[in-house]
Amino acid sequence: MNQTKHPAENLLYSPKSAWHNTGQNLMSDIFAFNEEYKSFLNQSKTERETAAQAASLAQNNGFVPITEAKQLQPGSRVIFNYRNKAVMLAVIGSEPIEQGCNIIGSHNDVPRLDLKPNPLYEKNDLALLKTHYYGGIKKYHWLGIPLALHGVICLKNGTSIPLIIGEDASDPVFTITDLLPHLAKDQMNKKMSEAIEGEGLNILVGGIPLKNENVTNPVKLAVLEKLNQQFGITEEDFTSAEFEAVPAWPARDVGLDRSMIGSYGQDDRVCVYTSLKAIMDVNVPRNTSVNIIMDKEEIGSSGNTGMAARTFENFMAELLDRLLSGYSELVLRRCLANSKALSADVTAGMDPNYENVLEKMNACKLGYGVALTKYTGTRGKVHANDAHAEFLGYIRKLFSDNNIPWQIGELGKVDQGGGGTIAYLMAVYGMDVVDCGVPLLGMHSPFEISSKVDVYAAYQAYKVFFSH
Ligand code: MN
Ligand code: MN
Repeated sequence: MNQTKHPAENLLYSPKSAWHNTGQNLMSDIFAFNEEYKSFLNQSKTERETAAQAASLAQNNGFVPITEAKQLQPGSRVIFNYRNKAVMLAVIGSEPIEQGCNIIGSHNDVPRLDLKPNPLYEKNDLALLKTHYYGGIKKYHWLGIPLALHGVICLKNGTSIPLIIGEDASDPVFTITDLLPHLAKDQMNKKMSEAIEGEGLNILVGGIPLKNENVTNPVKLAVLEKLNQQFGITEEDFTSAEFEAVPAWPARDVGLDRSMIGSYGQDDRVCVYTSLKAIMDVNVPRNTSVNIIMDKEEIGSSGNTGMAARTFENFMAELLDRLLSGYSELVLRRCLANSKALSADVTAGMDPNYENVLEKMNACKLGYGVALTKYTGTRGKVHANDAHAEFLGYIRKLFSDNNIPWQIGELGKVDQGGGGTIAYLMAVYGMDVVDCGVPLLGMHSPFEISSKVDVYAAYQAYKVFFSH
């Protein structure tokens, strides 16, 4: 039956799945892009590794360290790798920088388990490592799964030893044991938030004792001996090291149709990768393109590699110094205030298993394109950036005019919880900013799910944003 549409129905806003508009060529572009994205995820699981990979990708694409660039002109490409953790890139535009830049900011840190400064001990003839979790985790996620250790040890002689154990198929892995259900009567009666204690997240690392009955802690000593043989380190070296325990599995296709990617740490490396690829494609933009990949977002953007530090501002000052005949504080302020920004971060996708925590009319969906989030925050938008309607109008037109699949939503039902991104910290400078990223299922779990069409839409969206 062919029913005629009532003219009033044309007034409706009815978002559609982005998969509907994917012809064969676009489909192969989407799948090819996501293959590269998966290998990016597999090559960098920590903020340091992500920064290093971003920097090497940038340098292969003509970006030079800003410290080596004496003078900049339209088309110049520079990179600033701060403390091997925060990475900032720029492509100079043809318009005066005072008119503002187009800035995309993402973060490369991921919730994880960090080793404590004195981690190694022996108990009941087993050797273990003590951890302190980083960021918003559900502790039960970290039990009974294979873990890899990624880290760097900074020795007293000034050298640093990077170390990864557990990613190669021939490597051993580590784990935190879970309690057998047979003996979990007391534990099962506890509240979920109390069932697993932070001090219980200890990683199993060894079980063979030294063959000497006169020493105490022979298993711990045997582990130390192995570490010394392999890496030349002693127990004290843990005090100036950063070790992160992360899930030891790679990114995988999910679904019979392979429409999704499952991986650790897509929050926020999906936006890191897509924005990085977007700035690689920029030639000579009108307004200067700036891509910043910040650290420490998951713990409140604190520290000198986080967005709350003045590191980003310092980078912009260095840019201006090389671009103008003399550095001007006023020009820097004007440049920052006139800039437009996307806070490139993930949001919660509608999950059929947990739909009651989202409000259907305002929840983003997997497969519906890049997600705009006007506001985050908790309990009445507290601490939200809450982007202005004028800026959303600009972005909406930009994406629609360029056939970018996009959607808009909020992070969960009113009063259900909430969260934040670096948007409010970018807004400090006076620039307009809105959250714009990829919706995920199982965000902050060890296996977060994205839709390939959304990953590609984010890349397209960021590219279009840089070029206008
Ligand atoms: Mn995030
Ligand atoms: Mn997060």
